[in-house]
Amino acid sequence: MRVAVIGAGVVGLSVTLTLLRQGVDVWCYEAGEPMGERSAGDTRIFRLAHVYPDMVELAARSGALFARWSEQAGTPLIDRVGTVVSGAGTATWATAMAAAGAPHDLVEPDSPLLRLPARAFPGPALIDPSGGVIRVDRLRAYLVAAAGHRLRHARVEAVEQTPAGVRVSAGPATDVVDTALIAAGSGTSGLAAGAGIDTPSALEHHLRVTFPLRRGAPERPQCWITEAADGLPGTYQHLAAAGGWAVGGDVDPALVAWSAGRDAAERASLAAVTAHVAEHLPFVEPRPIGRVYCTHHPDLGDGLQFARNGRVLAVHGENLMKFAPLLGEVLAGACVDGSTPADAGPGAVRS
Ligand SMILES: Cc1cc2nc3c(=O)[nH]c(=O)nc-3n(C[C@H](O)[C@H](O)[C@H](O)COP(=O)(O)OP(=O)(O)OC[C@H]3O[C@@H](n4cnc5c(N)ncnc54)[C@H](O)[C@@H]3O)c2cc1C
Repeated sequence: MRVAVIGAGVVGLSVTLTLLRQGVDVWCYEAGEPMGERSAGDTRIFRLAHVYPDMVELAARSGALFARWSEQAGTPLIDRVGTVVSGAGTATWATAMAAAGAPHDLVEPDSPLLRLPARAFPGPALIDPSGGVIRVDRLRAYLVAAAGHRLRHARVEAVEQTPAGVRVSAGPATDVVDTALIAAGSGTSGLAAGAGIDTPSALEHHLRVTFPLRRGAPERPQCWITEAADGLPGTYQHLAAAGGWAVGGDVDPALVAWSAGRDAAERASLAAVTAHVAEHLPFVEPRPIGRVYCTHHPDLGDGLQFARNGRVLAVHGENLMKFAPLLGEVLAGACVDGSTPADAGPGAVRS
């Protein structure tokens, strides 16, 4: 069987690795740098905590696969410092964790179990001890090495079904394969539309900013997803690979709308995140030292979505890094047997 994977982000590379290990003849096409778009940067948050029990279970499966990959990579791909969720919606997350049988603690903001660079915040707080920092820098090295020469530097212009197979056009070259997976991030909806698959196409700008931690900040701080009564309504925060505290958040949608343009959206996000840090994080210096820009869908929360037309499969969703090895397995299986995996997360049909 010949498979074409379009996009060498974390999803496409994870599928490529899995297919190669199954002995499948797979090629992964990448227009730019592997993991240079939505998978850019050095770190992400891993967590079992989600608002739906099925997502908690999927994250647990992914965590187990990350552990196996870490052994193969010879280095931990997740630093298991734990992840904390706090704010008004915390009870919903705790209910989902309990329903899935996932270990967790519900504590007040003054709990000695918390290691966060803040003194006060609206409680309660959910501690997810299985969470931690995904070391994207290590994961990238592992996946790119595993893909080896099966990674092809080429921009795919079209994916079309023909009686002879799926035609993948990349510049002057045309390959005909048995099945194709479109995992092209922000490029997915355009390519998928050409193959008769409808996926969400709206885009928004997003910026994550890294700041120095001050002396007195807790050792090995947990990752943190929190709501605030003022400043940014929601933020995610965690330790960056090189040290420093990475913060991203819900900036006013009008300021980060696609039509605002990248430069203006980055400036507005930088100002909003820096102001939030100055106001809410006493152990973080509000002096930006690094940033990661990406595009994302304005309305999709945590979720996995799959769509198929004939022999072409497309994947899209938000916060996919934590599901990378699981997506590798699920999508490799679907490429081989022609199935369509079940959606999960917001909007998924639940029995
Ligand atoms: C700042 C930030 C923070 C995040 N935080 C978290 C987090 O804490 N936890 C978490 O789990 N997730 C998080 N995410 C989300 C997660 O990183 C993404 O969902 C994931 O990396 C998406 O991977 P992907 O492979 O789908 O897309 P991408 O990484 O964008 O890969 C798609 C690839 O396809 C290539 N491509 C596009 N069009 C074509 C074409 N026509 N031909 C060939 N190649 C093409 C692109 O160049 C790109 O390399 C975060 C993302 C960002 C940016």
